[in-house]
Amino acid sequence: MIGKLLNRLTGNNAAGSDSDAPSQGRSQKEKTATRPRNASNGAKSEPEIGAQPDKSPRSRTRSRGGRNRRRNSGAKQAPWDISQFPVPEVPGKTRFHDMGLETSLMHAIADLKFEYCSPIQAQSLPLALQGRDVVGKAQTGTGKTAAFLTAIIDDLLKNPIPEQRYAGEARALIIAPTRELVMQIAEDAKLLCKYTDLKIHTLVGGMDYSKQQHRLHDTLVDILVATPGRLLDFCRKQDVYLDQLEILVIDEADRMLDMGFIPQVRQIVRQTPKREDRQTLFFSATFTDEVQRLVEQWTHEPTTIEIEPESVATDTVTQRVYLVSTEEKYTLLYNLIRHEDVESLIVFANRRDQCRDLQDKLERHDVKAGLLSGEIPQNKRVATLEAFKNGTLKVLVATDVAGRGIHISGISHVVNFTLPEEPEDYVHRIGRTGRAGKLGTSVSFACEDDAFLLEPIGKLLGEPIKCTQPPEELLAETPPLKPSSRQRSSGPRSGGSRSSGSRSGGGARRSPRRPS
Ligand code: AMP
Repeated sequence: MIGKLLNRLTGNNAAGSDSDAPSQGRSQKEKTATRPRNASNGAKSEPEIGAQPDKSPRSRTRSRGGRNRRRNSGAKQAPWDISQFPVPEVPGKTRFHDMGLETSLMHAIADLKFEYCSPIQAQSLPLALQGRDVVGKAQTGTGKTAAFLTAIIDDLLKNPIPEQRYAGEARALIIAPTRELVMQIAEDAKLLCKYTDLKIHTLVGGMDYSKQQHRLHDTLVDILVATPGRLLDFCRKQDVYLDQLEILVIDEADRMLDMGFIPQVRQIVRQTPKREDRQTLFFSATFTDEVQRLVEQWTHEPTTIEIEPESVATDTVTQRVYLVSTEEKYTLLYNLIRHEDVESLIVFANRRDQCRDLQDKLERHDVKAGLLSGEIPQNKRVATLEAFKNGTLKVLVATDVAGRGIHISGISHVVNFTLPEEPEDYVHRIGRTGRAGKLGTSVSFACEDDAFLLEPIGKLLGEPIKCTQPPEELLAETPPLKPSSRQRSSGPRSGGSRSSGSRSGGGARRSPRRPS
């Protein structure tokens, strides 16, 4: 590790003298100078560390950024100090106060009301803040995002780059498997960077390419959050350069393996500095042999931290499983929303058509519900998530696409309208509630079609799942459905409002399983 730190120090380290102005003091024009287009975008052709620096921008800028250059902070001067965020010391708990974080970062942490570190934060931050590589076995809901973001932001603030920087040269890169996860990470990053000048960019498929490209040309990149495919496109077009990267985060590596992204991630990693010359933070919920091989290839003398998944699934979530008929499921859902103390609720179903159907019925029953599944365009998904977060939508109907990585605090209920086929997805789904120490409720509906899936879920959780019958009031007849907009435009159809007012509420039709 010391070798890595030394590698990152350079001959002209003195350039970071105390009198150097931090980057935000320079003009926009200087800030966004464009690299010569023919400059290769690969770390492979870099001169070895320690070689005589030449005059080319890349070799010059390679010589910046040592972890010992803890001088000028790039932070905005905020009229705030740590005394405004008193958090008492408690034995066995770690405070962010004790980590020596930059004041501007602490200010944002105070706004987020993060008083004590979660276990993954308490264990990983002291190492990550020293520049060590960390491998984290942790699921969503454990606070891993804030763990790696805090390490990145503190490092970037403590090591501002006094030299001219070039458009598209990222200092930190976070690769995540899905668009939703990328957007969520970027949002968390924005909150934590609120009092800094650090620039966050997201590169994801399904969203306006040229908009992302223009922003890259016009604004420096400090933290880049991206899905692998879109990032590679930008690298190929030489809009993004990764050879100056200081910190690489691989999030949900197991998921990327499952989704077949590893060849792309491999190409990306090849464009970054050698693993000894960058810091790598690697997260995965599961560690198969394949994941372990990636750890060996991409990290340098890492410390592994393991956070037990049970603490996500069971500690803060009250789990109920109701045995019902397929036809009763919608009625149960409707009454749950109406009768229980529901602040916000995510309903999971396995298939897109089921989700579409559910959202339509809920809307026709005057329940404001959004739809989140693979068939919804990205910009619509972002808007739906936003509406759900700000409370405009009380209910979100989602496939498992939404189950991973999305963390919205304050979700009071999760409903499994259909049980997931993969037991891990059950843990991911119910982990949307009961987050960050808050309590939550998960209600799963098991019917003749899917009750057999309870056994493997129970095995994963370490105890068999108990099923009960729903109380009578949750099976009360639903009011008549209003006609759907489709029906209004194309005339009445079978299954109209009257028949839907039955006990089943026009329950979900059965059709063959298709993954969404
Ligand atoms: P994640 O595991 O990254 O999905 O984060 C889970 C949730 O916990 C997010 O909503 C975070 O905002 C929240 N969170 C992260 N760290 C803390 C903390 N130290 N204290 C309270 N909430 C936190």
